[in-house]
Amino acid sequence: AQKTVLITGCSSGIGLALAVKMARDEQKRFKVYATMRNLTRKDKLAEAAGRTLGKTLEIKQLDVCSEESIKTCVSSIPDRRIDILVSNAGMGLIGPIECQTIDEMRTVMDTNFFGLVRLLKEILPDMKKKKSGHIVIISSVMGIQGILFNDVYAASKFAVEGFCESLAIQALKFKLQLSLIEPGPVITEFEKKVFEDGMKMDLSAADEETADMFTNIYLKNYKQIFQSLGQSAEDIAEIILAENPPFRHQTNTLYTPMTTLKYADPNGDLPIDTFYKMVFHGRGSPFPANGSCRRPTSRLP
Ligand code: NAD
Repeated sequence: AQKTVLITGCSSGIGLALAVKMARDEQKRFKVYATMRNLTRKDKLAEAAGRTLGKTLEIKQLDVCSEESIKTCVSSIPDRRIDILVSNAGMGLIGPIECQTIDEMRTVMDTNFFGLVRLLKEILPDMKKKKSGHIVIISSVMGIQGILFNDVYAASKFAVEGFCESLAIQALKFKLQLSLIEPGPVITEFEKKVFEDGMKMDLSAADEETADMFTNIYLKNYKQIFQSLGQSAEDIAEIILAENPPFRHQTNTLYTPMTTLKYADPNGDLPIDTFYKMVFHGRGSPFPANGSCRRPTSRLP
């Protein structure tokens, strides 16, 4: 039987690529409810969906920051049946915390973490009743390892990881599957927007050294990292569709050494020392020197 899939954040990036890939499945295994916060942004998805629109793909409104909007969307699906939920909507935030408002930080937590919680509060009870369902969460390598000037974003993804790790134990009892997808850099609007916001940031609240570090180390190397290590939204969509994904799935093998440092040293000093040397002395990179992909020419984002 055809599986029904609900995906959040489908107006661009990974959500759009995944919705289209699933809707175009040759064996028509999926009926996709591709959702987005703002339906005036649906043209790009509608165009990419082509002939699948109205057949294996339907576009619906869903704002992960509104319980009301989630309820309305889920109730509009026949029998409220969702076999696969993909929690993808998310946003980034970079820069020194001195230059960010608590409101800006709260919006990141509200979208990336509470967005997932709101979805599950509405959808999990139905899945438990049926004793079937698959919940796919787009986390990040930053859900495992923090990176310079991504403090609040990393915190939001750590929250997602801790939440899912706890829930996975209960889910198993109900025969539900949880999968955390942990991409490294992906070339989407996310990266562009985060970079532009960083460039526009008012750094007057930060001391000179911090402002210089952000502008001349972090932002200077940002684009290069995405260009040399970045995957495409289509790459991520393909990985999500692979059979039997494990609980944690890092999509970019070039980032595995980075997260491995953390597990190698329970004291936590090894990854921090390594990142310090990489960022401030340009050495000690955990990336393979002769990897099959291009090497980062400089520092991590
Ligand atoms: P993107 O900006 O193209 O997509 C994010 C989508 O979420 C957008 O369409 C946006 O409109 C939507 N969104 C934001 N707030 C929303 C809300 N309140 N309700 C509904 N939708 C909302 O970027 P992307 O790279 O495709 O990001 C998708 C996911 O992948 C995010 O969770 C992001 O954290 C994660 N991720 C991205 C990268 C990267 O480098 N691009 C790396 C790791 C993880």
